[in-house]
Amino acid sequence: MAMRCKRCRGPVVIEVRRHNAAFCRDCFVHYAGQQVTRAIAKHHMLAPTDRILVAVSGGKDSLALWDILLGLGYQTDGLYLSLGIGAYSERSKQLCERFAAARGATLIVHDLANEQGYTIPQAAAQAARAGTAGRSSCGVCGLSKRYIFNKAALDGGYDVIATGHNLDDEAAVLFGNTLRWDTESMARQYPVLEATRPGLVKKVKPLYRLAERETAAYCVLKAIDYVIEECPLVAGNTQMRHKETLNQMEEASPGTKHNFLFGYLDRAAALLRRADGAELAECSRCGMVTQAPDDPAEAPVCAFCRTRARLVDGDARPLPITEVRAG
Ligand code: SF4
Ligand code: ZN
Repeated sequence: MAMRCKRCRGPVVIEVRRHNAAFCRDCFVHYAGQQVTRAIAKHHMLAPTDRILVAVSGGKDSLALWDILLGLGYQTDGLYLSLGIGAYSERSKQLCERFAAARGATLIVHDLANEQGYTIPQAAAQAARAGTAGRSSCGVCGLSKRYIFNKAALDGGYDVIATGHNLDDEAAVLFGNTLRWDTESMARQYPVLEATRPGLVKKVKPLYRLAERETAAYCVLKAIDYVIEECPLVAGNTQMRHKETLNQMEEASPGTKHNFLFGYLDRAAALLRRADGAELAECSRCGMVTQAPDDPAEAPVCAFCRTRARLVDGDARPLPITEVRAG
């Protein structure tokens, strides 16, 4: 017998095996909105009066997120950061602009090259020269995004930043952190990060209950045009490898990713957060929040300012790219 929609018994367009469910078009769109509503309610992510800045990349996740939040009636503006990755960045920006224009929504555009004096390919080339290629283009990229999103939200007076991280992203990051027992990063991985002090904006991930193939399906079903090509710098990205491994396990045993992530969030995250007592300080160069240096005599300089100094001012001191606490 042909499969029927779990909600309305209509013809199925997508199966969600981890929930033993299948949906028709309209019921799937409803399901996606419901998962986001549940995420928002469970973690008190957003209030109706909040001004929300949605970080959009032009990819399926962030555009699906913006579309769902608009549909739920939230006050959202989009933020696109141009990373200077040639045609890929141009195309991504164009798709974000088109999405916003079609909905009468506001898109704020920032540009790494114009505002900070470097592009991600330049950072990657420098990393290759220094022999640290591989982890570094994505490392600098992630660091730059977290820093600029936070700053843009502060400057624009937004209450919260929403990002399009989905279940697959979160499971892959948790998997990577677990393989290294990086408890500090694990303690910071949560669907909501409150603004624990001035200078930090609250961050939320309303898509963490939706799998990657579900956000893709949502865009296809809602005719949202998103950038399909992969970032040309993604080769060697360890998160991609972790996703592939998790996908193999998911294939053999549907629900593996869900159980891994949700088990962590429900049972282990709070323990780690309690143990993570890292002290915060103000960056002596830009004033943003950063981790306090071990040596109290040392002036705190945030990871973004250190990286930028290395890339733009040719500061050759070897400095590790660590996460900004804001991220
Ligand atoms: Fe940035 Fe790496 Fe993602 Fe490309 S793949 S956008 S460099 S994080
Ligand atoms: Zn700084």
